Amino acid sequence: MTVSPHTPFTATVLGLPRVGPNRELKRATESYWAGRDDADHLRAVARDLRAAQYAQLLAAGLDSIPVGTFSYYDQMLDTAALFGALPERVAHITDPLDRYFAAARGDDSVEPLEMTKWFDTNYHYLVPELGPDTAFSLHPETLLEQLAEALALGVPARPVVIGPVTFLKLAKSEGGAPLDRLAELIPLYRELLRRLAAAGASWVQIDEPILVTDLTDAEIERVRAVYTELTESDDRPAVLVATYFGRPGAALAALASTAVDGIALDFTDAGELAEVAGVTALASKLLVAGVVDGRNVWRADLDRALSTLGTLLGSAASVAVSSSASLLHVPYTLAAETALDPALRTWLAFGAEKVAEVRLLATALTSGTEAIAEELAEARAAARSRAADPRLSDGQVRARLAALGPDATRRAPADERRVLQAERLRLPVLPTTTIGSYPQTPAIRLARAALRKGEIDEAAYNARMRAEIADVIALQEQLGIDVLVHGEPERNDMVQYFAEQLDGFAATEEGWVQSYGTRCVRPPILFGDVTRRAPMTVDWITYAQSLTDKPVKGMLTGPVTILAWSFVRDDQPQADSAAQVALAIRDETVDLQSAGIRLVQVDEPALRELLPLRAADQPAYLEWSVHAFRLATSGVSDATQIHTHLCYSEFGEVIDAIAGLDADVTSIEAARSHMEVLDDLNAAGFALGVGPGVYDIHSPRVPGVEEITAALRAALKAVPAERLWVNPDCGLKTRGRAEVEASLRNMVAAAHAVR
Ligand code: GLN
Ligand code: ZN
Repeated sequence: MTVSPHTPFTATVLGLPRVGPNRELKRATESYWAGRDDADHLRAVARDLRAAQYAQLLAAGLDSIPVGTFSYYDQMLDTAALFGALPERVAHITDPLDRYFAAARGDDSVEPLEMTKWFDTNYHYLVPELGPDTAFSLHPETLLEQLAEALALGVPARPVVIGPVTFLKLAKSEGGAPLDRLAELIPLYRELLRRLAAAGASWVQIDEPILVTDLTDAEIERVRAVYTELTESDDRPAVLVATYFGRPGAALAALASTAVDGIALDFTDAGELAEVAGVTALASKLLVAGVVDGRNVWRADLDRALSTLGTLLGSAASVAVSSSASLLHVPYTLAAETALDPALRTWLAFGAEKVAEVRLLATALTSGTEAIAEELAEARAAARSRAADPRLSDGQVRARLAALGPDATRRAPADERRVLQAERLRLPVLPTTTIGSYPQTPAIRLARAALRKGEIDEAAYNARMRAEIADVIALQEQLGIDVLVHGEPERNDMVQYFAEQLDGFAATEEGWVQSYGTRCVRPPILFGDVTRRAPMTVDWITYAQSLTDKPVKGMLTGPVTILAWSFVRDDQPQADSAAQVALAIRDETVDLQSAGIRLVQVDEPALRELLPLRAADQPAYLEWSVHAFRLATSGVSDATQIHTHLCYSEFGEVIDAIAGLDADVTSIEAARSHMEVLDDLNAAGFALGVGPGVYDIHSPRVPGVEEITAALRAALKAVPAERLWVNPDCGLKTRGRAEVEASLRNMVAAAHAVR
């Protein structure tokens, strides 16, 4: 076996965040979109951000630095642009940057590409559309420019591109299997490698995260063939294929059997070491060991990482230390956090701290652990303090959970509940309702900002929110909606709002992470056992109910969604954390009921999101997630109606779980999937109330009465009238007040017409 002649490196990360430590790129991009600044300004901001980032990584001691993971919007879109595969409908836009943004966001005349979740992360990528007319061609200028820019700064640059298998599998291909188009792409990848080598790249990273999902044997053979072909020529750089978010399984041996020079693997997955041991072909390669978790915020267990690295030394020609994934998924730096609990702070590592961990481990690998003795001691002390912290183990919650019997997740049969609830609620057939939020008006945003700056006090803020609630209740009464909501004006975010009120969660000040494009989120950190200090929503909902005789629906976020949109503790199974959150939500539903609220909605839009990438891991997830939801919603009496809301996804794979939630009424995104979801639900034996969204709230367009009537008639073909609810397909917070009013008026009219 020949060992790769390319000089290996020792310390790196797989990719970099790009929004900027203070979201500079977000602001510059948005002001470009608004016409306030020109493209040169945007490019200059981007260039400065990259230069500052490179300088930091160099100073931190990385000896190979990813280049080209920078993006103005998204890396899948960049790959589509790289291979000339932007959709035909933006081709008329001559300016390349504007064409790119039009594909990302659409404009008055152009629909954007669809967006969906990047594996099981909270990042959304744009889904390239490949039609029979898509003719691939290579456009490497942007990447070559970034490479030249980095080399000029003295950066040991390693250009990164998404690999052909991942790109094609994640794109939407019209006609034919996605991988059928490999033959067209491979020559372009080869040409790209040649150009990058000629421009001075000694290593190139090709990302193939798709290898950690279930692939067929035939697909794995394609992987082998692709990387055999890509590494055939001599005028290429060293090729590192990166996998992340899990184990590549059988694809690892296939990949290792080719002439690729390096493979990056995710060692936060405990099973990966065993997989590697069986692959002898790794002996000739650089193994880039992702021992520092790139997608969670916990400080690394350096001892465990060192032991993994030690084992790996025997399996590969050389070993480099790395993050397990791109640092895109974690905040920039802990240094920006001034208000974090001091103990918690010592348990954490954000982007900059992870880079330091990589460097430390690499030093230990070359110079022995004595070289990092001090840091090792510090990390061990932090781990001890974390393990001993009383907040991580609340005897009361644990005892409560341990004492739960099967009845804690069971309600009376659905038919019995239906009768009780019908008697109590006396709703018309085809009842109308909304999903929870009403437009977040400028007044709401101003009040929130004023409170934050201390310009108004809590009482004044509450008064303003109450005014908003009164407004929304009056609007719904005037529109003739049957089940009202309070409109959620007081919620900055549907997860953060609850995390702030629960013990066991911490919020960051600057812990922004890109969600998509210029949208960033600040996920809370679930670090300890979860308990509810006091009722969280009861005052708001009962105030709303006091203003009307119609029933007001309480509004909560479910345990699975709260977990999905937080950084979650890694010292216990997610199932245990979910059960604790569920208990807190359960207590809230019971308090709402005691306060006279007759319906409570527990939103689980992220149910599909946490679904494990491998089919073998999915049943266990579905079991604990359904259990958590039922735990949260089974504390109320059978006469209290439980609603849930699901959106953002194809539900096919979780359809049985939706039935398992046993919610009395499920509102579900369907406007864009044209009610197909109802047939799927029927096939799964679902026989509860359902509100398939009758119009799409993601667009400002006001749907006509006829259109909604048609949607309702279509729904009635699949669902009997007694079970059908009438609602939009998601919350209304991003819409304007005028659109909402007009759309809901038409929705109510359509419901009347069909009744
Ligand atoms: N109740 C939430 C709202 O209406 C649900 C949001 C969501 O589905 N993401 O805003
Ligand atoms: Zn929704």
